[in-house]
Amino acid sequence: MKTYIVGNWKLNFTVGEASIYLHKLLKAVPNYRDLEIVAAPSTIALQPLSLQIDRHKMKLAAQNAFYRDYGAFTGETSFSQLRGVVDYCIIGHSERRYIFREDDKMIAKKMAAAIRNKITPILCIGETESERAFGETADVIRDQLIGGLSEVSDDDIEKVIVAYEPVWAISSTKAAKMATPDEIAEVTKLIREVLAEVYGTKVAENIPILFGGSVKPTNAGAYLMVPGVNGLLIGGSSLILSEFTDIIETAKRVKA
Ligand code: PEP
Repeated sequence: MKTYIVGNWKLNFTVGEASIYLHKLLKAVPNYRDLEIVAAPSTIALQPLSLQIDRHKMKLAAQNAFYRDYGAFTGETSFSQLRGVVDYCIIGHSERRYIFREDDKMIAKKMAAAIRNKITPILCIGETESERAFGETADVIRDQLIGGLSEVSDDDIEKVIVAYEPVWAISSTKAAKMATPDEIAEVTKLIREVLAEVYGTKVAENIPILFGGSVKPTNAGAYLMVPGVNGLLIGGSSLILSEFTDIIETAKRVKA
């Protein structure tokens, strides 16, 4: 299985800045066949960057899209409009769940829409700080996983990527708010158990699971060594060229 290094640029960079940053990234990143390096810029930058990107080296992801292919949905961008522009889409990121109130039903429709439009969905799941404190992590993971995948057919299930992103560990500067490899290992194991229960062990083994939450060059190696982790979803560190390329080199070393 490939190792995925996905940079979520969130609401950073104008289109011009994104283009310059991509140019620098493409120069810095070698063509590593066993690494899938993905950048997720803002929607407005996707189309121009899709003309600039070297798809042998890197791929593009959308950060979000709407589940209906056409219709009266002012302000939205559909997966059908992104078809051919991006290879991936992040779905159900905690910022979508908690700021924009996306629930598992909407996320499930987006998962189906992505697959219908030949875009690989990266389903983000993860518990909040209080859910963890109340011992609800396993229930939350199970519900978000089963709920988010509920509209994906058995034939398509292996087209999905899952990202475990504990909400409390995202954009953290304090060590206490960063996940430990043991915590990640426990949840990754649980995700594969739930997948095995619902879809069988072969599917459970074949679905890539990424980790996200304050990944930096200093912890990327330890996170990538967690059994069952197939890659990283990175916010802050993906915006700094030296840090992102450092993480890519670490992935190459650790997963070689
Ligand atoms: C994210 O945006 O998904 C993320 C994990 O951000 P950060 O790496 O900054 O915590």
